Parts: sequence; C-alpha cells; structure tokens
Amino acid sequence: MVSTGSTTPSENRFEYAPAPESRSVVDIRSSYGVFVDGEFVDGVGGRSFKTINPATEEVLAEVTEATPADVDRAVQAARRAYARVWSRMSGRERSKYLFRIARIMQERSRELAVLESIDNGKPIREARDVDVPIAAAHFFYYAGWADKLEYAGLSTAQSGPPQPLGVAGQVIPWNFPLLMLAWKIAPALACGNTVVLKPAETTPLTALLFAEICQQADLPPGVVNIVTGAGETGRALVAHDDVDKVAFTGSTEVGKLIAKTVAGTRKRVTLELGGKAANIVFDDAPVDQAVEGIVNGIFFNQGHVCCAGSRLLVQESVAEDVLDRLKRRMSTLRVGDPLDKNTDVGAINSAEQLAKIKELSDVGEAEGAGRWSPPCELPAHGFWFPPTVFTGVTQAHRIAREEIFGPVLSVLTFRTPAEAVEKANNSPYGLSAGVWTDKGSRILWMANQLRAGVVWANTFNKFDPTSPFGGYKESGYGREGGRHGLEGYVR
Ligand code: NAD
Repeated sequence: MVSTGSTTPSENRFEYAPAPESRSVVDIRSSYGVFVDGEFVDGVGGRSFKTINPATEEVLAEVTEATPADVDRAVQAARRAYARVWSRMSGRERSKYLFRIARIMQERSRELAVLESIDNGKPIREARDVDVPIAAAHFFYYAGWADKLEYAGLSTAQSGPPQPLGVAGQVIPWNFPLLMLAWKIAPALACGNTVVLKPAETTPLTALLFAEICQQADLPPGVVNIVTGAGETGRALVAHDDVDKVAFTGSTEVGKLIAKTVAGTRKRVTLELGGKAANIVFDDAPVDQAVEGIVNGIFFNQGHVCCAGSRLLVQESVAEDVLDRLKRRMSTLRVGDPLDKNTDVGAINSAEQLAKIKELSDVGEAEGAGRWSPPCELPAHGFWFPPTVFTGVTQAHRIAREEIFGPVLSVLTFRTPAEAVEKANNSPYGLSAGVWTDKGSRILWMANQLRAGVVWANTFNKFDPTSPFGGYKESGYGREGGRHGLEGYVR
C-alpha cells in the first residue's frame, strides 16, 4: 500500500504499477517431517504446528513439532556422522561440500528468496538482494577456511592444528531465517563439526529447503540435521548431554536461560542477543546521506534487526532539519505486499510480535513522547505496523531503553560528542552503533568510546562474511563471521 505523506505534494507523487514476484517458483509441501540423518522423517510424538504467511495469514504448511525423542535421534545422527565421516575428512574435502552448497544456494536463489519472503513477511527486494546472497557468501567464505584452519592464528606450535568440538546444537530466530542458518552452519561445518539446528517456529521453511539443498549436494547423512519446533524443542536441544557446543541467536531473556542451562557443563557456548543501537548524527554529517542511513537503520526488515539503529541521537543544532527531512523520506516508504518488488516495508512477522510493538509504542505515547507516522493505508489482513518515529524522547522512557524489534525509531538529542557517547552507552545492550560525521578523527575517537561490537561510520547495517559480528554486555558473547567466527567451533 502506498503511503500518502502529507509533506509530499500529491502532484509530485509517482504512482507505481504493481510488480509482483511470482510464487510459482516455490513448491511448498503440505507437511514437513524433521530432517535427520539425511532424510525427512516423521516426528516421534506426531505433533505438528502451522506456519503462516504473516502478510495474509494464509496457512503455508504443517510442520513437525519435534519432541525430546526427535532431538535425541538428531543428536545421535550428528554424533555418528561426526565420528565416522566428518571429523576424519580432510579440510580440503569438507570445503568441496561447502562450495557445492554455496553454489546450489545461488542457483536456487530465487526460490529461496520467494520462500523467505512468504514465510517471514520481509520484502522480496531484501530477501533477494540481502538475505540470500549474503547467506551464500557465508558458505563460500567458510569453504575457503576449511583447509586453512592451521593458518587462522588459533593454534600454537605446541597445540597443533585446531580441532573440531564435536556436535553443535544451534538455535536461531525468525528475523533472518536463512542468513542466521548460514552464520551458524557454515563455520561449524568448515571446522569439522556436525550440527543439529532448530529454526524459529514462525519461519521454518527456508531451513527445510536448505535440508533439500544438503541432499542435493550429497552431504554425508547426519552432518546437518534440522529439528523444527518452538521453545520446548530448543530447550531439549540445548540441554542434550551429547551436544558439545551451543550456539544461540535470539532474545537476551532466552539467552540468559540458556547460559544457566549450560553453566557447569563441558559445553561451549556463544550467544548473539538483543540490541538497542544508537545511530549518532553530528552537525557536520552529510544530511541526506545520514537520513538514508537512519531509514535503512530502522526500517530495513521492518526493524526486526538485532543491530537496528533504533535510537537516533542527533546533534541539537541540526535536529529540526534532520527530522524534517526524515519525515519527508518516511512519507515515500512503500508499505505492503512483501512480494511486490517496489515494497520497502513488509509485514510484521507474527501477531505476537505485532502486539509487542503496539504495546511499547502505546507506552511511549503515554510517557509523553511525540508519535508520528506518515499517513499510510495498511492491508486489511495480516500483521502490519506503519513506520513510526517518536520525538522528545528522554533516557528514562521505556522506548529509549527496551528493544522494540519493529519499525519504531526513538529520537534523542545531544550537544557535545561526550554527551553523545554517554547517552549511546547508557544501555544494557552493546551490539552496534552508527556515527555520521565528516571528520575521520571523530569517527576513530567515537569508535573507541562506544561500547558496541560493531561501529558503522557513515553507513549502517552493512554485513559481510569476512567481518566479525557480536556483542558487549547483555548483547551476548562470542563472535560470528570472519576469522573470529572460527574460534567458537574449534578446540
Ligand atoms: P527468542 O529468544 O524468543 O527465540 C529465538 C529462538 O530460541 C527461537 O528458535 C525459539 O524457538 C528458541 N527458544 C525459545 N525459548 C527457548 C528456550 N528456553 N531454550 C532454547 N531455545 C528457545 O527470540 P526471537 O523473538 O525469535 O528473536 C528476536 C530476538 O533475537 C531479538 O531480541 C533480537 O535482537 C535477537 N537477535 C539477535 C541477533 C544477534 O546476532 N545478536 C540476530 C538476530 C536476532
């Protein structure tokens, strides 16, 4: 649906013709089993749940709710594959499989992108141009490391080449289903581990298509296992005695539970959790570029991004100008059908997430912040929330402290660089930050002061497989991506 911003004179508005991507490229089965030992098998408990298209509420498929017995079967298959095949294979041979998987992902990229868009609600433009290519790039990148682990700087002359850990239990969220799968599976396999992965309950379909890709790549059975289900399934996987490594991406709340579960065991753990990033705009920043960066920072993927620039800190002297231009730009965002190639903002992933976004936005208003959205016609079915900005926000407001995980921006102001740093760091999270300024020296100074795992300068939400990503404080520990991403999967 086209937003019809009041700040845009209607005579200057473009009318777009619909440009829908075809769904015919995907073949969704009516029901799915779990993927264990190279095959799709029925779940032991016989229970299932529905995955729906959040843009229409249409049921897409029945998916198995894996029980502890299913998880056990998957872990046993992963253990056998580890002991008999994968840990014994040379890095050179392992890399061939990873390259093959990467190439098949590229060949089937359109299918993966459409399926991701349907199951998640994200715009096809983003699934096509961001999620799928970067997921494939992760497999290419880690394929390159598989036979070079001894040169990764992770071992000493005494310790010898790095050794795999064994079976990795991996649990991922719904905001970037295929990309999070790639972040988890590619480095684990490159290092010689086998995996059992649990996708999020609202977005299991691309992980199940990935299982087919593993079959197509002739990956030895048991090297990758996919168990579907919700929190109970995740809990069973994390707690399984024969899992050597737990890798989790999700909320800080669940991350804390997992840290408690594995404490005192031999399991290694990495946690990638929530965030409340500051996107900091100085008075010497190129304003139009900064406005694009603010929009990308918070409205990309409906704001369902752990490192979203959800707190805009803007220098007081330019705040009015930046806000005017931001509102004008927001008025041109196209909200609606995720499969339309012109759509900028798609559907909220679930009714539950929509309720959370609504609740926190109402709290923002009740606490006295000024709420604004461009006039915006939302579809009648599905889960939708308009791009929203809150002004007059203070540090005390809940919308300045809590992760909303939706298309909602809180705007605060500052006068000096020191005040910007103090406000940016005043958060239990520390995942990412953005700095917009003309001065290189200020960028370097800010990057040293900000307690965030990633600091972007004059850009935002840039992801690359060669670059490590991870948090400080309650945003978790461990790094994914780059050479650092190997560390979590070797002894
Ligand atoms: P969530 O924590 O509710 O769920 C994440 C996954 O954990 C899901 O697969 C879920 O089924 C599973 N799970 C739930 N309870 C569990 C338990 N007790 N034991 C084991 N597994 C359990 O999070 P979500 O709502 O799916 O995702 C949103 C959160 O993820 C946000 O807070 C976001 O910031 C974070 N996130 C972080 C990163 C990062 O790299 N730091 C990336 C993406 C998302």
